Amino acid sequence: MKHDLATVVPVSASSLPWQNSSIQHLVRLKHAQKLPHGILIEIKTLVDSSTYGWQLATALLCKNPLEDLLPCGDCQHCELMRANNYPDFTYTTLIENERTQKPNKDIKIEQIRRLIHQLSLTPSLDGGKIALIYPAEKMNQSAANSLLKTLEEPAENSTLILLTHNTGRLPITIRSRCQLQTVENPVQAVAQQWLKQQNLTPAEIDEYLEFSHADAQLALQLQQQDYLQNLTKFRQLIKQYLGNEIEVITVFNGVKSLDSPIIRLMIKNTLGSFLYRQLEKSLSLNQKKRILSLLDLIKHSNFILQIEENNLNFQLQLEDVLISLKQILNRGNHNAGTKPGDIVSQH
Ligand SMILES: [Zn+2]
Repeated sequence: MKHDLATVVPVSASSLPWQNSSIQHLVRLKHAQKLPHGILIEIKTLVDSSTYGWQLATALLCKNPLEDLLPCGDCQHCELMRANNYPDFTYTTLIENERTQKPNKDIKIEQIRRLIHQLSLTPSLDGGKIALIYPAEKMNQSAANSLLKTLEEPAENSTLILLTHNTGRLPITIRSRCQLQTVENPVQAVAQQWLKQQNLTPAEIDEYLEFSHADAQLALQLQQQDYLQNLTKFRQLIKQYLGNEIEVITVFNGVKSLDSPIIRLMIKNTLGSFLYRQLEKSLSLNQKKRILSLLDLIKHSNFILQIEENNLNFQLQLEDVLISLKQILNRGNHNAGTKPGDIVSQH
């Protein structure tokens, strides 16, 4: 048996409290023999969710689920899953490129062909066959096309789980052949409680839930990565750029060592606070126009910054956003009575 392994296999998987109801729902369907062949699960957090996928698969395979329908952890099936040795389970994910030693950018057709072959074999145990694909939105087009036939004519007693952060990036032909489930982020009180258990102070909890747009897992990750410190530095650089003290490339150089998702989030948070500070003031016509332009820029930056992951292009895109920002803030500035840099400060 051969799995496509990410660098770390989350064999000690356990789900988070707010994720359990989706697992329980699917286990109930399985017990009622109503589990669909194709299940598409959109998980709203931006944080790696492979552990959730493994916990779900283990719950569906467990021989003696607990009263709350979560896996027992003790039965033969749970043990095989934990050892990454369950013969009828296939995990397909981004694999490491042998040449670059980095994860591939997409899931390739050969991986899906292997998965299809595994699903066609007779099960070794009595739990049925399960294939998990994560992150499913990373399947390239030929991989997605080759999966279609399996979704149309599934092997008997087989379940295909596509776990994704964004169903919108999957072809409609795939989506329409799966039953869709959504795993939401926790409601505020649950998120606050959970972050408190992770030793965040009340002030940090509020701050990081705002940065992460209520994604509790992301809030924790950002706190652990000193996000606030990086954001403060980034805003300081933008302020200097808007005050014509430094060039736009210096802003990029100041943050280029960070992961691009973090830079994207900093841009989103910074543009958001610009908008917030504008709204707080009494609005002249010029300011209203400015706010509308900022909203357009937020939309535009969300769009362009997520498309291209190539570094050079990313630099150009960041510069493009900052130059547009400066233009918007300079427009009718004498009427508004503020300097561009005034708006960049802690919210
Ligand atoms: Zn078990």
